[in-house]
Amino acid sequence: MLENLTHRFSKVLRYLKGEVQISEENMRQALKEIKLSLLEADVNFRVVKKFIENIREKATGREVHESLNPSQQVIRIVQQELEAILGSESRELNKTAVKPAYIMLAGLQGSGKTTTAGKLALHLKKLDKSPLLCSLDLKRLAAGEQLAIIAREIGVPYFTSSCRDMGLLTAELKKNAADFGYDYVIADTAGRLHIDDELMEELRLVKGTLQPVEVIFVADALTGQDAVNSALSFSEKIGIDSIILTKLDADARGGAALSVVSVTGKPIKFIGNGEKIADLEKFYPERLAAKILGMGDILTLIEKTEKEFDHRQAEIISKRMLANEFGLDDFLSQLKQIEKMGSMNDLMGMLPNMGFKGNMDHVHVDEKRLCHLAAVIESMTGKERENPKIIDGRRRLRISRGSGRPVSEVNQVLKSYQEMKKSFKKPFFRKMLKKFDNFSKMM
Ligand code: GDP
Repeated sequence: MLENLTHRFSKVLRYLKGEVQISEENMRQALKEIKLSLLEADVNFRVVKKFIENIREKATGREVHESLNPSQQVIRIVQQELEAILGSESRELNKTAVKPAYIMLAGLQGSGKTTTAGKLALHLKKLDKSPLLCSLDLKRLAAGEQLAIIAREIGVPYFTSSCRDMGLLTAELKKNAADFGYDYVIADTAGRLHIDDELMEELRLVKGTLQPVEVIFVADALTGQDAVNSALSFSEKIGIDSIILTKLDADARGGAALSVVSVTGKPIKFIGNGEKIADLEKFYPERLAAKILGMGDILTLIEKTEKEFDHRQAEIISKRMLANEFGLDDFLSQLKQIEKMGSMNDLMGMLPNMGFKGNMDHVHVDEKRLCHLAAVIESMTGKERENPKIIDGRRRLRISRGSGRPVSEVNQVLKSYQEMKKSFKKPFFRKMLKKFDNFSKMM
């Protein structure tokens, strides 16, 4: 998803790598590249213009902040601007005290409306809500049949009627929905290959009758700027509240995703990322921005580590891990870092594409345990810490007395150290360390 843009952006970031200060010239080059990347990704040109202006304003001539190199600063600014055009924050579905709440889906034929109706119903069902699905497409009966099948598949009731008059049909639907006390009614509406007045009139009528809590425009990301233009037309002609962007899994360019919020002023609430009914995700602008920058949630990681992490020490330790020179002193300072930052699991989850599947929960340490562990390690001689293999029974007894901790605890410390050291030898961990090493060089 959005691979092309990610690829182009990472090239720009590489270009800036190693600059001591952001000069006008290298910023100009970088902005030119960013602009071309966005235009190539089919982002609306007005959106691109504003985006570039904002970055230029924020970045040019900026003094290099002590703790951030120029590439990091530019990443920060680009990230913030990307988030801004994607909508800044994730949004929930609109809420109402009235039951049932009507959600009306609108969009062009083939955009994924029917599939998305099913996806939303499943989403609400998982939230313990009771949704009713219905199709208000009087022309294409097959659309209704398709939705009925999806409803059966996910175990959600489906409203059906032989009525062919929209006014009567919606009246019947409302009565049925009220009688059964559903929380939500998801109404799929007719779509056409192109926008026409008749369709708009029909949708206005449906909206007026159902008084939906939310009209969601379903936009096919694969159609790029066409999706953005249709969203704008629907917004102007019938009024929409939010957008669901479908087929983002297949969209390598990203133009619609990066333009539709700025152009319509409406938030993207969900994204469709596959053909299966479970393939619906809540939309998080910050995550997509980070993905476009090729960094998974690495920016959150930078923020976290920036606050807590001793970079120089981490670098030394990771080199020692790779060289298999990891001693008990390293073990202790590593655990101290982990304690400062939260569990390793949280950090691992933020690293992109590491293929990391191991469970590091056992590395989580609490303060009290850490104090005892430090006492044990500090009661060892320098030689023992460097080479724990020499710690025999007699030495264990001496360490236990010196630290005031039982021998069993000394044994436990040594065992945990061996386990951590062993895990560094596993291929996935070595791969991760190398990537971490490369990543800190890039930054
Ligand atoms: P409608 O005419 O707007 O109701 O569109 P449909 O729901 O029938 O979907 C049209 C096609 O798009 C179908 O083949 C769906 O399987 C496919 N589709 C819908 N959503 C997604 C998505 O998020 N990702 C992918 N890859 N395909 C999707």
